[in-house]
Amino acid sequence: MFQKHNDRPFLIAGPCSAETEAQVLQIAHDLKDLSIQHPGQAIDLYRAGVWKPRTRPGAFEGNGAQALPWLRQVKEETGLRTTIEVANANQVYEALKFGIDVLWIGARTTVNPFSVQEIADALKGVNVPVLVKNPVNPDLDLWIGAIERIGNAGITQLGAIHRGFSTYAKSKFRNAPYWEIPIELRRRMPEIPLICDNSHICGNRVDLLEIAQQALDLNYDGLMTEVHHTPDAAWSDAKQQITPLVYHELCQKLVLRRETTDNVSFLEHIENLRHKIDEVDLEMMNLLARRMRLAEDIGRYKKRNNIAILQTARWNEILEKAYQQGRERGLNDPFVEKFLTAVHQESIAHQTKIMQEENNPAKV
Ligand code: PEP
Ligand code: MN
Repeated sequence: MFQKHNDRPFLIAGPCSAETEAQVLQIAHDLKDLSIQHPGQAIDLYRAGVWKPRTRPGAFEGNGAQALPWLRQVKEETGLRTTIEVANANQVYEALKFGIDVLWIGARTTVNPFSVQEIADALKGVNVPVLVKNPVNPDLDLWIGAIERIGNAGITQLGAIHRGFSTYAKSKFRNAPYWEIPIELRRRMPEIPLICDNSHICGNRVDLLEIAQQALDLNYDGLMTEVHHTPDAAWSDAKQQITPLVYHELCQKLVLRRETTDNVSFLEHIENLRHKIDEVDLEMMNLLARRMRLAEDIGRYKKRNNIAILQTARWNEILEKAYQQGRERGLNDPFVEKFLTAVHQESIAHQTKIMQEENNPAKV
């Protein structure tokens, strides 16, 4: 049910938190009115947090069950289907009692297999659609494990939400996207629709479009975005929320690209380019193999002369030279560093093996 439509992504929007009945209804009506005027941007689900897991105590922790009738009201007045976050069995029962259409499991809950299992057990026998956010830490197996637990409970309409990962280092994003993790999730669970929560990745308003577009270009099915009629006055996540109108403008700017086409000349041209890429990859493999053989020669020579494997000054020299060479060729510093660090670690591993083998008289 979370798959993208022909002409638009699967769209989930609504406030971070259900603050008051008037606020919940106002935003829902605003989004519904825009959906009617622009069917191309009609939202599929209305989100609002009822129980809010907050990092520090003292922040607004949601209205709890008393907000559930407000969402039922949204459905009665606008016809919009609703979704909320649940973090334990009791919240599942309460949500189902009030006719919430889709449940989502939050990032702080996905990290805990006990909590996920408790939710899975509470869901047995009710086939309500469930979305599973990535855990706060960059652990793909934990994410997959949570999806499996919910699937094992008999839930057939499952989806994954990518909301980014916590890091200690400050970055431009609130939660680092680490796109390689959802890309690998896609490869391992191709049948699971993937939705990007651009609001929690960004933590601000200015980058929302860039992240949403990047997700669509990676063939995501949908987007979950926090929308509030007075974002600056929001009781939670004020900095990242946008008005329904700004949300509508953002949706209008999105470009939906197809995964593939049956246009023959396009396919031929792309095939040709891919062939060239394969050739370059093979060349790179050969070069890397040659580099490792040189590292082994160096390892043997160092061993004979009783010299340690690692010389920090040499490593710094390699890196500095590579940054410069990379810049001249349009390669950015972080990539050059990541690539060369991997190559260097592999060289050290080859040299270590040589030294240890030659330490062992049986192998000499
Ligand atoms: C939310 O969607 O408002 C929320 C709390 O998200 P997350 O679990 O991604 O932090
Ligand atoms: Mn939020």
